[in-house]
Amino acid sequence: MTATVIDGKAFAAKVRGMVGEHVATLKADHGITPGLAVVLVGEDPASQVYVKSKGKMTVEVGMKSVEHRMDADVSEADLLAMIDTLNNDPTIHGILVQLPLPDHLNSDLVINSIDPAKDVDGFHISNVGLLGTGQKAMVPCTPLGSLMMLRDHHGSLSGMNAVVIGRSNIVGKPMAQLLLGDSCTVTIAHSRTKDLAAVVRQADIVVAAVGRAEMVPGDWIKPGATVIDVGINRLDAPEKGEGKTKLVGDVDYASCAAVAGAITPVPGGVGPMTIACLLANTLTACCRANDLAEPTGLTA
Ligand code: NDP
Repeated sequence: MTATVIDGKAFAAKVRGMVGEHVATLKADHGITPGLAVVLVGEDPASQVYVKSKGKMTVEVGMKSVEHRMDADVSEADLLAMIDTLNNDPTIHGILVQLPLPDHLNSDLVINSIDPAKDVDGFHISNVGLLGTGQKAMVPCTPLGSLMMLRDHHGSLSGMNAVVIGRSNIVGKPMAQLLLGDSCTVTIAHSRTKDLAAVVRQADIVVAAVGRAEMVPGDWIKPGATVIDVGINRLDAPEKGEGKTKLVGDVDYASCAAVAGAITPVPGGVGPMTIACLLANTLTACCRANDLAEPTGLTA
């Protein structure tokens, strides 16, 4: 079998198009422009690239984009004061603090200081609790994007066996909650899981969120299963020239694609969906803040 490639780049463009249309309607009918504020502490090059691309796409869908850069040695009090200002700014509907933060800052404290209604990353403990109890929450972007692709490919996920490899707060755990919400039978695997290969072989849906390059081989995949590869790993690629690198996922793409029914590539799979879902979450937060109907197809 050769797997269907789930094109995350094209799907993300479609999602951004839907967001853009809804934003245009909000402006025309209600005079409201959704606003997203991104706070970046320090000069981590990868974070700077992410923040720049988030800002560009926010503007492209017609939203207001605000960027606050703070020095790497900013005090916790100053960072919390900045978040408090954004919490009280009615033109800002979404607040994202780019992670990781420098070691002297308490990430949990910082994230939990964001107004949960503006927590478009979905990391605030209130949103974690709301998601866990099946209530209306802000849902973390990467798992939300993965769920959207699964729903788009399968329609209903009800009754499917899903194995999520990885139990982080930002990907693995919320992904498992979302799959449970869609009535999958969910197993969460991690570094202490015994006979991971046998566990993964039971899965109709495999979500790999491990951070280990090409760890999942094709012979772990049940024929016809759907594979969502969340991993982003940069490897040296001397075959492309001296000093060149390439991105690979957590699954061995060639061998998995030969067995799976459908698979997301890296790059071009889950990655583009993450930013698209950040924009979708900002729109959702704006609609909720203004007691307006939420966009359909863009939430969990
Ligand atoms: P974490 O490092 O926080 O979590 C990794 C998880 O993988 C842990 O639960 C760990 O288990 C588990 N794990 C590690 N080694 C093994 C192993 N040998 N067998 C089974 N499980 C293992 O990573 P994240 O969740 O933050 O990210 C995972 C990947 O997704 C990374 O590659 C990251 O770059 C990528 N990512 C991609 C995004 C996107 O937009 N596409 C967004 C966010 C992340 P244990 O808990 O026992 O240590």
